[in-house]
Amino acid sequence: MGINYIDKTGAYKRLKDAFPDLIEEQVSLAQYSSFGVGGPADLFARVRTVDQLSSLLKTVSELEIPFAVIGLGTNLLVADKGYRGLVIQNIIKGLEVSGSQITIASGEDYMTLVNAATEAGLTGMEFAAGIWGAVGGAVVGNAGAYGSEICDVMVKAEIANRQGVIRTEKTAYFEFAYRSSILKKTKEILVSATVKLKSGNKVSIAARVKEILQIRSEKHPRIPNSAGSFFKNILDSTQPYGKLPAGKLLDEVGAKELSYGGARVYEKHANILINSGTATAQDIRKLADILKERTLEKHGITLEEEVVSLGDFE
Ligand SMILES: Cc1cc2nc3c(=O)[nH]c(=O)nc-3n(C[C@H](O)[C@H](O)[C@H](O)COP(=O)(O)OP(=O)(O)OC[C@H]3O[C@@H](n4cnc5c(N)ncnc54)[C@H](O)[C@@H]3O)c2cc1C
Repeated sequence: MGINYIDKTGAYKRLKDAFPDLIEEQVSLAQYSSFGVGGPADLFARVRTVDQLSSLLKTVSELEIPFAVIGLGTNLLVADKGYRGLVIQNIIKGLEVSGSQITIASGEDYMTLVNAATEAGLTGMEFAAGIWGAVGGAVVGNAGAYGSEICDVMVKAEIANRQGVIRTEKTAYFEFAYRSSILKKTKEILVSATVKLKSGNKVSIAARVKEILQIRSEKHPRIPNSAGSFFKNILDSTQPYGKLPAGKLLDEVGAKELSYGGARVYEKHANILINSGTATAQDIRKLADILKERTLEKHGITLEEEVVSLGDFE
């Protein structure tokens, strides 16, 4: 199945001609998603530098090719049919500590930021210990845990618009909310983020990081077969951290007993769906739909998905 199979306008060929070393065809996205499911992207590029990202976006937008940017695929459910267009995997690296601020490229692991802060004796990033994924996905989804989120420490970030023009914006621009930012709407691309932390005691920071890693290792799967919590918690000011855990509601509808095809609910956490080895994306989709239906029936609450779907589902 070559490029001409779907390249009706010739745009794919022009993109491939412009970036011969960068663009790959028909790349399975299952390998780039922690669920381990999903079909191929028509075109795929792993972008290593800001210049590469910028010039690729410019050309892709001129050619009007649909595109999506992913990081480490730890919050992603890719459809079995894959993605029609270009998937850009952002693997831009780089980190700089300057006083109490750390600037980190969006393709770095979130955990790299935690480690750098610990090493520099800076406190404020401990909450993110053990959260999978890269900084780009973390900012887009305002990733957090234990009552803190990236928006609490981020002071500015570099972003690229859909045409590849790079600019810097302060935190207010991002309209951060629970697991959300403006980038989910504008579909702009996070290039790097700067966090401002406080001076702390290196030993106590490291101890807190270790403690959180320990708690997480008991609650979360350690192997890549999930995307973390599938549904968002429900905002509720009467609850600890202001949220009613979706996992609690799901427990009460018997989620942990449920499976669909090769997808099942993790036995230690009712809000984590896992691929037991043979799941298709559709299995996971169906199981998620069943969980939503049951929660609506029993609790009158419509669960919102935290995991982002990519491509067309049946
Ligand atoms: C075991 C496990 C535990 C987890 N625990 C938590 C947790 O406690 N708290 C939490 O918040 N999350 C958690 N997650 C979810 C996930 O780790 C975070 O959401 C993570 O920040 C996603 O980053 P990513 O690079 O994998 O993003 P991806 O999954 O690759 O992408 C997620 C979304 O972000 C977009 N995106 C990615 N990079 C960019 C970029 N540079 N610019 C623009 N858009 C981009 C994608 O298009 C997609 O819409 C967990 C996941 C797993 C597997």
